[in-house]
Amino acid sequence: MPIYEFACADCEHRFDVFGGFASRDAVQVCPSCEGTRTRALFSTFAITGAASIGEPVVQSGGGGCGGCAGGCSCAN
Ligand SMILES: [Zn+2]
Repeated sequence: MPIYEFACADCEHRFDVFGGFASRDAVQVCPSCEGTRTRALFSTFAITGAASIGEPVVQSGGGGCGGCAGGCSCAN
């Protein structure tokens, strides 16, 4: 069972939610302030080394054009 880490936009509290994809997509209520402005972070077990939260990895050089998010689709 995957674990999704959520972060609250109001109080920046972080909490884990056990469940599948439905839990990740569902609106989770912050257990700290009961706010609903929460967002799912990357599941911790799937990401090793890269600890960036919500920040796209900027690739320098290597064929990417820098203008395409998540994989260059330009024909260069
Ligand atoms: Zn909160």
